[in-house]
Amino acid sequence: MKRRVVRVLLRDGRVVFADDGARFSTLSAAPWLGGEPTGETFSGDAVARQLTPVAPGKIVCVGRNYAAHAAELGNEVPEEPLLFMKPTSSLLDPGGTIELLPASLSERVEHEVELGVVVGRRLKRSTIEECAAGVFGYTIVGDITARDLQRREKQWTRGKGADTFCPVGPAVVRGIDASALGVRCFVDGALRQDGTTAHMLVKPPALLAFIAEAMTLEPGDLVVTGTPAGVGPLVHGNRVRFEVDELGVLELDVREPALAPRSACVA
Ligand code: ZN
Repeated sequence: MKRRVVRVLLRDGRVVFADDGARFSTLSAAPWLGGEPTGETFSGDAVARQLTPVAPGKIVCVGRNYAAHAAELGNEVPEEPLLFMKPTSSLLDPGGTIELLPASLSERVEHEVELGVVVGRRLKRSTIEECAAGVFGYTIVGDITARDLQRREKQWTRGKGADTFCPVGPAVVRGIDASALGVRCFVDGALRQDGTTAHMLVKPPALLAFIAEAMTLEPGDLVVTGTPAGVGPLVHGNRVRFEVDELGVLELDVREPALAPRSACVA
């Protein structure tokens, strides 16, 4: 398959673009939904701000998919994939700012760099082979986690589902072999995580098949494949750099939470 870098950007409501080198082409829809070039092209400079390249209906994640990471948090490797979900409201654009939680909720927010898989076709009770063929492409995902909140609660929804806790990007890349990609996280230039997808316990096709036994994966859905060892805290002012070989660099800032807007809570 020809290597193709695809960026999906939202502009004027919702417009989708693909990037094939220096020029962008407008697509009629997301490429995993069968979008075709409309003929309109423009230079990369015309894009003022890069947005997340995915638009998933759901984000399905797996915990403890690297033995060294399970061990560093004192956990056993699960017998079968340990799934959880992040809401689409947690998505964050490349270059965006991770917002920590109020101290009353969490005093320890951590980075987890992960390989993300963008689903290219509907998968329902599909075989591993069908799932391998159903991968559209790969991207970088940060599974930002309020570790103390995660530990306090049986469900991980709040600890992993907060706003800005799912940065994704900078592009979706197809046509690569994802079986042995370096996966790294730097915080303020210091290397914190340095793993390889070769150490994943359950590989993406088997992971998709496991998920699709229970729930239909739709084109555009995002599956997040777990983090290697080296997770650690983020604090106000940090600059985070996530890297996966072949997939580029995803950089983010970290800041204290903004003052909560006064919400009209009507009983
Ligand atoms: Zn994770």
